Amino acid sequence: MNKLYETDSYIKECDTVITDISSTSGGYYISLRDSIFFPEEGGQYADTGKIISGKYELDVLDGQIVKKSAVDITKKPGDIPSELPIGIWYKIDYSESCKRTCSELPALSDTLVINSEIHCILDYSKRYDRMQNHTGEHILTGTVHNDYGYNNVGFHLSDDGLVTLDLDGTLTYEQIIEEEKKANEVIYRNCPVKASFPSKEELENTDYRSKSNIDGPVRLITIGDDDGPVDICACCAPHVANTGEVGIIKVISIVNWKGGVRIGILCGRRALEYINHRQEIIMGLTDLMTTNEDNLITAAGNHIEEIKELKAKLCEALEGDIIYRIDSGDPDIARTHLVFVGSDFPAVSMKNIYNLLRSRFKGYVGVFAGNDETGYRYNAGSSDVSSKTLIPILNKLGAKGGGNDDMIQGRIDLDRSSVEKAFTSIQAV
Ligand SMILES: [Zn+2]
Repeated sequence: MNKLYETDSYIKECDTVITDISSTSGGYYISLRDSIFFPEEGGQYADTGKIISGKYELDVLDGQIVKKSAVDITKKPGDIPSELPIGIWYKIDYSESCKRTCSELPALSDTLVINSEIHCILDYSKRYDRMQNHTGEHILTGTVHNDYGYNNVGFHLSDDGLVTLDLDGTLTYEQIIEEEKKANEVIYRNCPVKASFPSKEELENTDYRSKSNIDGPVRLITIGDDDGPVDICACCAPHVANTGEVGIIKVISIVNWKGGVRIGILCGRRALEYINHRQEIIMGLTDLMTTNEDNLITAAGNHIEEIKELKAKLCEALEGDIIYRIDSGDPDIARTHLVFVGSDFPAVSMKNIYNLLRSRFKGYVGVFAGNDETGYRYNAGSSDVSSKTLIPILNKLGAKGGGNDDMIQGRIDLDRSSVEKAFTSIQAV
């Protein structure tokens, strides 16, 4: 098979011929004379597109032709659907040494048969996006390799998330941003990106990345001029022809990864979409905070401080109300030694109220925040005996939690009257 994408990554359509068809479990392999569809290899997904065969249009999804989606292009919508069998898949065969035989050739419809001429159409916009991001990855990894000698030991070119590269050495944020700057300088210089298949001798005298013991000719991607290449790397995927087409390389995320660092990047159109999305978020925030971009962080900090102050005041007010009830001899609290508050009552105020109850009443006391539907958070215990003696009693009622001699805390899914009843019965003992 002529892998047209290896020598010219810009071919969008081609006419070719089916040279072989063989069966395998669940479907069929088809061999083509030429293919513009890159199969899944080296961290990059397979190309998608269409194959027109006779009167049928078939979807090429991730290297597979999905026959069940075949559309009879001579029929109008609403006509009788195509007579093609449902659920059978055909897969383009990229293996160099095809061991399968044609002896058990299935009785196929007239759509895909040996020697039939087909027309292939590549989903070029998806491919170009991958080309921009893949070449961008080579440039950045190349500049890092030149400066630090690190290798990319894991590459993933996802379609909807970040393009990630795993380096086998650590870099600080500042060092990565410096490399990002250098990589973008390579874009501004608009260096050529060339694919070549050097001879064994030439290969032995070439310093390149991603060496591996692969059978057959090694394809090298060289970025930069011959006298001073920026990067040379063994790679089977399609690339743009000049670095200027990458547009921009933007580092989005940096995380420590298996003794090295995983860098998430976006290039080209995808980077522009990302930047636009972030800009919309910033515009939304500046509207909300009624400030400008430069003041956004200060304004957000001020808001957080304000909320903290308001929360402190709220705690004070809520605690004050309950302290008043305890001091004025609220009959419910005097009887049960329990205080019930709403589910949003702050944890720190619960603790303050608990300490007050503990100093005022003998026996077990408790503060319960929540309601009968969703259950309660609690702080409970006693000043006479270890608060931990309450743990088995509450656990029997389905509570979860723990603590120390001074206080236990946790959650309980029980209604208020059952909690009150349980505490009244243990106070009596
Ligand atoms: Zn590559």
